[in-house]
Amino acid sequence: VDPVLEVTNLNVHYDTGHGPAKAVNDVSISLKPGERLGLIGESGSGKTTMATALMRLTRPPGRIASGSVMLDGKDIMAMSARELRETRLRDIALIPQGAMSSLNPVMRLEEQIIDAIVAHTSGMKRAALNARVEELLTNVGLAAEVARRFPHELSGGMKQRAAMAIATSLSPKVIVADEPTSALDVVVQRQVMQTLGRLQDGLGAAVVLIGHDMGLVAQFADRVGVMYAGKIVEIGPVRQMIEAPRHPYTRLLVDSLPGIKVKQALIGIPGLPPPLVNLPPGCSFSPRCPFAFERCKNEVPQPQEVGDRQQAACHLYPEHSALPPMPVGPND
Ligand code: SF4
Repeated sequence: VDPVLEVTNLNVHYDTGHGPAKAVNDVSISLKPGERLGLIGESGSGKTTMATALMRLTRPPGRIASGSVMLDGKDIMAMSARELRETRLRDIALIPQGAMSSLNPVMRLEEQIIDAIVAHTSGMKRAALNARVEELLTNVGLAAEVARRFPHELSGGMKQRAAMAIATSLSPKVIVADEPTSALDVVVQRQVMQTLGRLQDGLGAAVVLIGHDMGLVAQFADRVGVMYAGKIVEIGPVRQMIEAPRHPYTRLLVDSLPGIKVKQALIGIPGLPPPLVNLPPGCSFSPRCPFAFERCKNEVPQPQEVGDRQQAACHLYPEHSALPPMPVGPND
């Protein structure tokens, strides 16, 4: 099956007084129709920059420096403004972080959904539009009467559902969900994720789910990519990533999941991600990596196959066939 979304060597830079900050650094990913890919990372790892770049919504001081984003064989980066307007929402849609920013505070929900539909389709009568609004709201678990409300009359979870209704109003092939539950409490988070799962099933759309919570993302995704300092350091089927992570950073993320029995002493993830304007030479994770050796400080590791459909960018491979046991911390 041909990929519905194929990102190749994407680079997004933020221009700063000290040179470009490489927020997305040579990232390549590919998604099949109907696939669920999770992208996780700490704040500053480049995951939200990635989400906006997939939609070509990068704003100054950010800029897409190079790379292609092929959506069903068409390069989003090469589209005219008109093609781009037609493509967004119809073929690829974003569920943004914090739905409030995507909802118009002075418009009732039904008008916002209808506006989105009529911007892309013509000839629909008002009755058909009203019926479509009701169907979209039902799909996201909202009552039909919610259509008459303004955004400030909705709870956080309802706003996020409303944003999902708008994002799916034209049945896109790809949905990019950027931390869709970050502002919600745990119970509502789970409900909203279940709704996203149902929507995805119904539409058969591919989903890129961006998040910082490995547990939440892993429950949803088929495959997970781990981002660190603008790069995908490991990607693979979700089960392998949890049971047999190969990159030391993935291991540390998995060990910090609640409910995971850590056999070695948990050493946490000391330190902070590096400044993106001044990446360390070699592997960006080397200042925090318990396995770092000389080569890591000089040579950038390239992604390589480390298991079935699993790739990691780490100099431990191919010498090792699995990640060696974690060294214990100084106090253990
Ligand atoms: Fe650690 Fe070296 Fe692998 Fe980077 S390349 S993750 S520093 S072992």
